[in-house]
Amino acid sequence: MLDQPPTSGAPVSPKGVPAPVSATLPPGVTPELEAGYVKLEESVRARRPGDDFPALRRAFEFACERHAAQKRVSGEPYMMHPLAVTQILADMQMDQVCLQTGLLHDALEDTPTTVDEIRKLFGEDVARCVNGVTKLSKINLHNREVRQAESVRKMLLAMVEDIRVIIVKMADRLHNLRTLDALPREKQERIATETIELYVPIAHRLGMGKLRGELEDLGFRYHDPEAWREVTDAIESKRLANEQVLENIRETVEAKLAEEHIPAKVHGRVKKPWSVFQKLRKQRISIDQVYDLLGLRIITDSVKNCYAALGVIHNEWHPIPGRIKDFIAIPRPNLYQSLHTSVMGPGGVAFEVQIRTEEMHRLAEEGIAAHWKYKEGKRGAADDDQRIAWLRQLVEWQREMRDPSDFMSSLKVDLYPEEVYCFTPKGRVVILPRDATPIDFAYSIHTDVGHTCIGAKVNGRMVPLKHNLRNGDIVEILTQNGGQPSRDWLTFVKTARARNKIRHVINATEREKAIELGQKLLEREARRFGVAMSRVTRQQMESVASEYGCSKLEDLQAALGWGKFSARQVLSKLAPGVIEPEAPVVAETAAPAPSVERDKGGASKDYVIQVKGIDDLLTYRAKCCNPIRGEPIVGYITRGKGVAVHSKNCPNVQNLLYEAERRIDVEWARGAGESFNVRLVVHTDDRAGMLNQLTQILFDEEVNIRSVEAHADERNFDSAVVEMTIEVREKKQLERIVSAMRRVSGVRDIERVH
Ligand code: MN
Repeated sequence: MLDQPPTSGAPVSPKGVPAPVSATLPPGVTPELEAGYVKLEESVRARRPGDDFPALRRAFEFACERHAAQKRVSGEPYMMHPLAVTQILADMQMDQVCLQTGLLHDALEDTPTTVDEIRKLFGEDVARCVNGVTKLSKINLHNREVRQAESVRKMLLAMVEDIRVIIVKMADRLHNLRTLDALPREKQERIATETIELYVPIAHRLGMGKLRGELEDLGFRYHDPEAWREVTDAIESKRLANEQVLENIRETVEAKLAEEHIPAKVHGRVKKPWSVFQKLRKQRISIDQVYDLLGLRIITDSVKNCYAALGVIHNEWHPIPGRIKDFIAIPRPNLYQSLHTSVMGPGGVAFEVQIRTEEMHRLAEEGIAAHWKYKEGKRGAADDDQRIAWLRQLVEWQREMRDPSDFMSSLKVDLYPEEVYCFTPKGRVVILPRDATPIDFAYSIHTDVGHTCIGAKVNGRMVPLKHNLRNGDIVEILTQNGGQPSRDWLTFVKTARARNKIRHVINATEREKAIELGQKLLEREARRFGVAMSRVTRQQMESVASEYGCSKLEDLQAALGWGKFSARQVLSKLAPGVIEPEAPVVAETAAPAPSVERDKGGASKDYVIQVKGIDDLLTYRAKCCNPIRGEPIVGYITRGKGVAVHSKNCPNVQNLLYEAERRIDVEWARGAGESFNVRLVVHTDDRAGMLNQLTQILFDEEVNIRSVEAHADERNFDSAVVEMTIEVREKKQLERIVSAMRRVSGVRDIERVH
């Protein structure tokens, strides 16, 4: 087997058996482990002679040392497990990163090893993969609801950054199943069920047929031992007879194919217990009625010969209608390709025939792992195309992925880039859009949980409400009776559900405030004109309301609060003769519309401004002048949008003065911390270092820079323009910044633009 002597430092005899020098073995390496390693290295050498064997050996010795004190339940050294997992990976011809990951896969979880240590010793890829496997193992899949299995599967895949992680995890799971006997029954059942529900479907989707078959049968055995026994006995009882039939058929087929000059390998197979069990259960039939209990697999050299072989089979035996399937023309979603047919064989025994090429067979057995192992060495375009075809299939499967070539180039995957999978403390999976926050999570649990949310813990630690959730996070929402959604939440929630629910509450609250303001405006106006509101009856009020098209008095008050009608107009209707109605129509058409741009999505309360004497009015800073803290400001009740706050110097304010009654006194609310975006345009000489000097001033003031852009001034030779948006706390600070900038030599002019 071993043609060349190993070149690693391991003391190995020519037969590949460890030399009897166990005293010199490195720490944690027992003779048993050494023997296992030698076998591992042998199988890698046979298929991948170019690998870095000293590096593999280092990973082995490192893991041995770290796991040295640990034993498996069976009593053998713990390291036997990672070693066996790596042997499985080697048999799958996986690459070096995979193998090293296999050796190290339990080191993070069970020993004091850190990711950084692994990165330093074995490189970024191995560190990423070991970390990935550890993350998967940490998810407690215990007691998950069965109906959520699909979500959990997706979550597992979503957590995989590198497809090798899932391959190592599969090998890990396979070895755990092979050694399940040592565990107590309860644990056996849990691991087996998890395998059937989660790992088997994932192996299937990744097209790893061989691995899937093994996982299924081992899983079945421990998942439902009674059914397994029954099915296995039934198959076993007919085994001899079946084998005889199969052998006869096989010989016939081989002869017929040879006659037609179709090169082929023909294998007989008996259906595996799990598949038989599925069929019996689904179709409620007896084992004699399973058409494809016996099967034949024909592997030939070309697609053309696949169809030719199908012809030969149908010529010999009668096909069973409805059982011919052409997965060559229409591959399965996991890229499986083959021709299937069931025919009535000699003596009325039905059997299934699968026909495929060598290449299709390899894919059916190894799936994504096959794509993986041929990745190395040849990075040619054709090779890439093939892999990308595979990935396109994955794209279809989950219907959303970025440019597939992107992720192949980095060897990383993000199978569900749009989604994030989190858990409730009770283990329910909640699927949210990527970058969703605890607020989104809360609303997806229940509207009331969202409304009353006051805090959140992720994996046991308090996080800000705008924290971005990650795959696998366990999220606990803290609520308080009477809690209320905040308008701020709208700036970071990611789900439409949360957004709509928050808006709904906020609109209702704002309406209440508008009603309050409407009342106050009316009272103020009444005082001004000496009208006693106490003498106005509700009935009078309501009839005026209906004149304005409002069915309820509150609607009119809200409209007043929103500034849709003026208090003076309404008052003139309530007390005719006392006050002349103003001439609003004229004013409205004559005045140039103030350019007060609004944020999309309606009024937004500006918390840094307060209307004098009235709390919590709907205010916002007018975009035309964008006043900052410290500047003199004036409020203006808009028609329908709350109170617009302008700088007193804003040219628009002059135009607003004609309607004095809509002016309202406002002031900067106390409470520091808020900052204001200010846009500056600095005209300078075009010289090196200018930008540096300007930004240094901003650093000195500890001002955030939202954006900065410098370019040559196309109109003025020799001059440049620096445009920046900065966050300032108040007017004084802005003044300091501007005067500091003016002192920089070469600065010609500074403008504040809106
Ligand atoms: Mn393991």
